[in-house]
Amino acid sequence: MPVVDRQEWDVVVVGAGGAGLRAAIEARERGARTAVICKSLFGKAHTVMAEGGIAAAMANANEHDTWQTHFRDTLRGGKFLNQWRMAELHAQEAPQRVWELETWGALFDRTKDGRISQRNFGGHEYPRLAHVGDRTGLELIRTLQQRIVALQQEDHARTGDHECDLKIFQECTVTRVLKDGARVSGVFAYDRETGRFFVLRAPAVVLATGGIGKSFKVTSNSWEYTGDGHALALLAGAPLLNMEFVQFHPTGMVWPPSVKGILVTESVRGDGGVLRDCEGRRFMFDYVPDVFKEKYAESEQEADGWYDDPEHHRRPPELLPRDEVARAINAEVKAGRGSPHGGVFLDVSTRMPAEVIRRRLPSMYHQFKELADVDITAEPMEVGPTCHYVMGGIAVDSDTAAARGVPGLYAAGEVAGGMHGSNRLGGNSLSDLLVFGRRAGWHAAEYAHSLARERPPVHDDQIGAASAEALRPFSLVSPGPEAVGGDGPENPYTLHQELQQTMNDLVGIIRRAAEMEQALSRLAELRERAGRVGVEGHRQFNPGWHLALDLRNMLLVSECVARAARERTESRGGHTREDCPAMEREWRNVNLLCTLADPAVGRIRLTRETTPPIRPDLLGLFDKEELAKYLTDEELEGGLSA
Ligand code: FAD
Repeated sequence: MPVVDRQEWDVVVVGAGGAGLRAAIEARERGARTAVICKSLFGKAHTVMAEGGIAAAMANANEHDTWQTHFRDTLRGGKFLNQWRMAELHAQEAPQRVWELETWGALFDRTKDGRISQRNFGGHEYPRLAHVGDRTGLELIRTLQQRIVALQQEDHARTGDHECDLKIFQECTVTRVLKDGARVSGVFAYDRETGRFFVLRAPAVVLATGGIGKSFKVTSNSWEYTGDGHALALLAGAPLLNMEFVQFHPTGMVWPPSVKGILVTESVRGDGGVLRDCEGRRFMFDYVPDVFKEKYAESEQEADGWYDDPEHHRRPPELLPRDEVARAINAEVKAGRGSPHGGVFLDVSTRMPAEVIRRRLPSMYHQFKELADVDITAEPMEVGPTCHYVMGGIAVDSDTAAARGVPGLYAAGEVAGGMHGSNRLGGNSLSDLLVFGRRAGWHAAEYAHSLARERPPVHDDQIGAASAEALRPFSLVSPGPEAVGGDGPENPYTLHQELQQTMNDLVGIIRRAAEMEQALSRLAELRERAGRVGVEGHRQFNPGWHLALDLRNMLLVSECVARAARERTESRGGHTREDCPAMEREWRNVNLLCTLADPAVGRIRLTRETTPPIRPDLLGLFDKEELAKYLTDEELEGGLSA
């Protein structure tokens, strides 16, 4: 067994995006010695890419906004499959989390009377997104980092050591959660630059590793999104919830090919941008589903009136939830009414003066100018769906963020499931990170304190197995990208490309049973080939080796997505079945859980469970007619009469 350094902590947070940093701050403030470990450089997490804003019912832009309306919008967006207690806590606590950020130094855009400005976004009844131009995630991370540095300075003043109680391990990847029996005992990780292995022993581990988009070919996600936390939880024995729900954002860049998938923020539509087909028609009026008909405008005049007078006009259909808009764009392109490069047109140039576009959407202006040579103040953008977000994730307790079945394991942010049901509303991720990041840090710290006298030991055999697993690709030498098939070593890049193509083509935005069967057999073949992946060189910064290790995670997660998608024979939110196009009330209260059936070969077992009934006072926030579109008669009777 190679020499492996060991350190002792109370709480280890895996991930330094919004969820991880908020968890770490909370754990440290509650007296837990906390280590944060992240794959990228500190401050470079995926969260910095978030553009539009943080959803919170602060009522700055519309006095009628309340946590109840935010809760309602979130459930409508998620098509009532949300873990309702999470949606309740999220709506109630998001405003406090935004104000807290301000007290830590975040500089939000302002209303004329000096309050935090809030903008419109799809599916939100009122302007609700606190924002910093279209660079909100950057400010969020900057502020949380600043808070961490402030805490480290306090620690230095007290002890002479900045890192005694809160330390960041950057550019390090966790490959295993270690356990003593059922309980967590720490993590096994490697330093990406040196290749050195190390173990952080801790009774509590918070997974905050973000999403899974790098399993798909066209994605808005950053390189870190290889589903590591999802896979780490599965391998540690925790179930994943509703993995079939993957959000395809309606507006990614489609041209040039090198930038395909990069996000075009929803703020473009929130601020007045409209979608048009190749003949210049605003087609979204044709795609308002029955469940939303009462709330969306029927004519361009009514829709345009809403921007200045929302009290007396209904919303533009461009602001329907993302799943609806993505399906509409897909249908337009399929019907031959798309743009030259296979998308549709998104236009702000005829909707606002050039200087307003440059002020409100500075990143979009530069993104299109630099990457596509398109001036969005003078011509429309070409956009199409891109894999953006995973609603499925680690099954957690709503209040404590504890992962189900593994004492000491917690999860927050995009890696956790439940909060967003079948479809996330824009802006609800950044608020989710803050609300549940804090809760995860709080409960992880409490749990660690409760085990102060009998900390679970780390077992040498697990360290040996984790080291051997990580070193395995070096025992087979890669034959180069052209050598595919046979029993020889496999190239990690080739396998990754084949995986991405498989998921894009067969488990993408529109799904069919036969294609998902095909995907599952291709995934089984890829898994078998991944067992023979080989890399050249040594352990010092070796991207081929890193990818070889990430492949295990992407394959596990992809199988979960494909199995759950095949099982759910309806269309709901981020899961659209061409062969089962209706949303079925019988599926409303069904969760699909993935667990690891056979750790040796990485096979997934799928089980169903019935969700707990929605609390009657929360059901009371909706009209009975609306509920009847989602709930079965039995649920309706039981819920409203309780
Ligand atoms: P991340 O911020 O991705 O952090 C994950 C962390 O985990 C990283 O530090 C990574 O290095 C680390 N990590 C991963 N695996 C490992 C491992 N094995 N070992 C160690 N570390 C690991 N949401 C909104 O609400 N509003 C928006 O306006 C918005 N805009 C968006 C724009 C874009 C372009 C994109 C792509 C997404 C946007 N989202 C938005 C979604 C939102 O940004 C993400 O859902 C959110 O940032 C996820 O945060 P997180 O803390 O869960 O994970």
